[in-house]
Amino acid sequence: MSTAAADPPRLPPAMRHPARVVARLAAALAELVLPLTCVSCGAPAESFCADCRPGGVRFRSVAAVPIAFCGDYGGALRTAVLSYKERGRADLARPLAELLAAAVRSLLEQADVPSAVLVPVPSSAAAVQERGFDHVRRLARRSRASTGCSSRSALRLSRRVADSAGLSVTARAANRHGAMRARSPGAGLPAVVVDDIVTSGATLREAVRALQVAGWPVVGAAVLAATPRRHPAGSTDSPGVLLPCVRDGH
Ligand SMILES: [Zn+2]
Repeated sequence: MSTAAADPPRLPPAMRHPARVVARLAAALAELVLPLTCVSCGAPAESFCADCRPGGVRFRSVAAVPIAFCGDYGGALRTAVLSYKERGRADLARPLAELLAAAVRSLLEQADVPSAVLVPVPSSAAAVQERGFDHVRRLARRSRASTGCSSRSALRLSRRVADSAGLSVTARAANRHGAMRARSPGAGLPAVVVDDIVTSGATLREAVRALQVAGWPVVGAAVLAATPRRHPAGSTDSPGVLLPCVRDGH
């Protein structure tokens, strides 16, 4: 690989992968010209059919951080998240952003906060380059209009983290702790951390910690899906009650 200095002008990461650019163009074209089907069952529908569309917002608390989410990480929701994130279904950004917006609105309503800054959990540069886009940042931006919120990429990764697949819940927390830093100090505006999935909660807890250290008041977090708890009757603040079974690094 040539050095960065020998590579001007710098192309956006997505443009350095011609095959990925073609795939994304094809997905965009398909969105325009093909009848869409339910992402889960294939019935004629735009994104989700009535049977597969997630409904309602639920809440979970991890280490006193309230988390609003739209459903368990499984079935149609899991298929939609993976299709959007890993399989080039750019058309799913809109319906998934609508779901995320519903979670944001419920969180704000419960906290009696009229508006907030949506702060996406940062992805690694390698992940963004691999996918060709920042999937959480895109969802945050698309959730602004229907929530009355702004969005800001106020967090960055301050060090590399290991792939958390296969790590224990305790090890996940240690892997994430101190891994983020706020880009700018809070200006009094409340923040809502947004992400696609919550598993152990270690990533969201680290995002909240980094924002609070920089002076941001944090309302909580809003995500699309949560992995089911292993022991539903357990303490909501205990990271030990969650299933560390998802390979998405959360
Ligand atoms: Zn369906």
